[in-house]
Amino acid sequence: MAKIKSIHAFEIIDSRGYPTISGTLTLDNGLSVSSSVPAGTSVGKYEAVELRDNDTKRMDGMGVLKAVSYINDLIAPKLIGVSPLKQGEIDLWLAKADGTNDKSKLGANTLLTISQLMVKAGAADSGMSVFRYVNKLFEILFKNKITIERIPSPIFNILNGGKHANNNLDFQEFQVIPSSAFNFSKSYEMGVEVFHELKRVLIYRNAAISVGEEGGYSPNFSSNIDGLEVLVETINRKNIKLGLDIFLGLDVASSTFFKDGKYIIRDRPQPLKQPDYLDFLLKITKGYSLLYFEDPVAEDDWDSWKKLNQQIAKDIYLVGDDLVTTNKTRLERAIKEKACTTIIIKPNQIGTITETLEVIDMARKNNINYVVSHRSGESNDDFIADFAVGIQSDFVKFGAPSRGERVAKYNRLWQIEREELKTKA
Ligand code: PEP
Ligand code: MG
Repeated sequence: MAKIKSIHAFEIIDSRGYPTISGTLTLDNGLSVSSSVPAGTSVGKYEAVELRDNDTKRMDGMGVLKAVSYINDLIAPKLIGVSPLKQGEIDLWLAKADGTNDKSKLGANTLLTISQLMVKAGAADSGMSVFRYVNKLFEILFKNKITIERIPSPIFNILNGGKHANNNLDFQEFQVIPSSAFNFSKSYEMGVEVFHELKRVLIYRNAAISVGEEGGYSPNFSSNIDGLEVLVETINRKNIKLGLDIFLGLDVASSTFFKDGKYIIRDRPQPLKQPDYLDFLLKITKGYSLLYFEDPVAEDDWDSWKKLNQQIAKDIYLVGDDLVTTNKTRLERAIKEKACTTIIIKPNQIGTITETLEVIDMARKNNINYVVSHRSGESNDDFIADFAVGIQSDFVKFGAPSRGERVAKYNRLWQIEREELKTKA
């Protein structure tokens, strides 16, 4: 059993041009692993806190030198000589060393760098793929076996709005989702082809083909509904059967346009209060046969979540991202109040891999579906692709099928299917 010889952290620049933390861990048997952590732009109110330098004289105040020094000067020296296989103990120690509920002392980004490095080092030391090691880790920690059968179905975010683009769409992500009857290879192919057809549609409509933070196009339209219409047109032009071979989804990220109890969207001249806004949402779900609906209502609007869940849960994945923020206490409430059917899993919303797995365990025990997601600020680390396969999430959401930091993850899923799972189309 190898022991940790060194851990070294440093700044790198993420896909948005902001600094983030990257680290390298070397074992005393000579094996070495690296990992980097992501960062969100539309950050939920209940997420664990990301530590930034806030030094406006440097990197727009977004530096992470303090976090890097916490790793190099405080945490790393205490982990030298420790086995990376002790994930549960190390993560618990990290959470205790922070000591706050929201990781605001050391920073969720600081802790996650160590936690991800530990998983990768544990896998390397065990001679296993990261996804198989994550799967084993879950079994050891929660005495519950997950059988690895398939690559999770991809959700492609091909039109960007909200905080992820400077266009006029209020909704953040307009998604296409190939049927889960297809294997990953076929789904990826469909995602890529639809992405290119959408570009052609935007060009003939004289709309912009510049892209947003997650690699999807970010044109201006007169309404959010127009965004859905353009996706329908694109899919029809490809002769793909909407509602059978491919589905539509939305991450509305509605907390970003919820002000004083009202939802402000360009589809309606006046801000909408609950009954009218819910009517609008129901019309969209029916009109476009949505399969997937993330954060359609705001993170504290529990009453609307419950009402929506009663009305649409049997036909649609009603997904809490800002609502639950990969947090056990928030998930407990969502389960008790029957607020959603599905949750987003983002390890940096909570700070350690063990706590992330705890949330997944709770979701599984309560028949809640889960979707492993990237953040808008990403690196080329493909860790979450392995993570999603290891815990067999229902879907993965890694952005558009373009841009290096997005396709690093999709390409890793493709590789796992090709080399390790070998499923048929
Ligand atoms: C999301 O809201 O699901 C998302 C990935 O965006 P961000 O990383 O900006 O929170
Ligand atoms: Mg979201």
